[in-house]
Amino acid sequence: MQYPDTAPIKPAPENREVNILLVDDRPENLMSMTEVLASSNYIIVQANSGKEALRHILSTDFAVILLDVQMPDMDGFETASLIRSRPRSKHTPIIFITAVGQSSEFIERGYSLGAADYMLKPIVPEFLKTKVSVFAELFKKTETEKKDKERLKQLTEKLISSNAELEQFAYIASHDLQEPLRKIKNFAELFARRYERQLDEKADEFIHYITDGAERMQRLINGLLAYSRITSRKKTFEKVNFNQLVEHTVNMIQLKMEETQTVLTVDKLPTLLADSTQMGQVFQNLILNAIKFRGKNSPHIHISAEEITEKRLSDSNTDSANQDRKAWRFSLMDNGIGIAPKKYERIFILFQRLNARTEYPGEGMGLAICKKIVERHGGRIWVESKGKGMGSTFYFTLPLGG
Ligand code: ADP
Repeated sequence: MQYPDTAPIKPAPENREVNILLVDDRPENLMSMTEVLASSNYIIVQANSGKEALRHILSTDFAVILLDVQMPDMDGFETASLIRSRPRSKHTPIIFITAVGQSSEFIERGYSLGAADYMLKPIVPEFLKTKVSVFAELFKKTETEKKDKERLKQLTEKLISSNAELEQFAYIASHDLQEPLRKIKNFAELFARRYERQLDEKADEFIHYITDGAERMQRLINGLLAYSRITSRKKTFEKVNFNQLVEHTVNMIQLKMEETQTVLTVDKLPTLLADSTQMGQVFQNLILNAIKFRGKNSPHIHISAEEITEKRLSDSNTDSANQDRKAWRFSLMDNGIGIAPKKYERIFILFQRLNARTEYPGEGMGLAICKKIVERHGGRIWVESKGKGMGSTFYFTLPLGG
């Protein structure tokens, strides 16, 4: 007899991890099914009663269970409903094996008990092989997905704990560095005051370098401390009216704005759940940068916000991982010196700067701090610029609901 639909199945070595459970009260049936499946390298487990099958199910995950309907004591249907009631085998596919003649009634009952498929006796070897191979493939795929998901979970946990360690380290290191540094700075200043112009010119210059270096180091350490404190802050989010927040921020830098004749326009902004102090810091850093990196003209800054739908990667490792979510996208546009596209990412990294400190003072921490704050709020930050001298627009998102 020829079966044109069934291609020969190549035994796959990885089938060694696939368990198949055969349940039949007749040893000769078990033997013949085992023989048919032997060439595919599965691990075949035999059970000659429903009870024995249930015992195996307690300790092993099966790709598929081939279950004879007619068995003394506990028949196939009873066995199937018990299999379904156990958490481990709740979703294990069951193929019922039933004799011709009783088929339609039995098949219906089998499906109502959650059968994945059925086969009629006498069993056709090629059909058995094909059906089992389909479930074996499905099992392998699910197992791989499970392993990938588990690996991803472990990696994420590792990353979270190493980030926390790193932050803890940055905090302790910067905190402990403050004290000796303060001493260096104080004594250098004392030395300068007491011995200025008493030694030669070079000595005055060297002392100036020491105090200058110590001051810079202090700024760096304070920045590092602020940076490491962003995520360790336990403050819960509150309703923040962003128009009021910007107004408050602007008041704090009023002098700088007047000195530089900065013109600031602000659209209607939303009220969202956020950490107001941190968001104030973001606006302050962005506005001060827009002023610092101004071009020849006096700074013009425009702040606006619009509601958008954005894609995000969810925590679940499924096909639907890319989910849409509603967010507010804030933008801060300036007319400053602009940024080259290949530097867009770099400027958000700690201590990365594009300009000479003599021309534009700074330590390269402002944007890294903004990034960390925005990410703590579940959003993202980026920049776009039309190029050198054409101004920049900084964008950041905040998800709805905080
Ligand atoms: P800092 O201002 O201390 O240099 P930031 O982290 O705030 O550090 O910024 C990093 C770098 O990004 C700056 O040194 C500058 O080169 C660039 N940059 C930031 N804001 C602007 C802006 N508004 N226009 C042009 N360049 C900018």
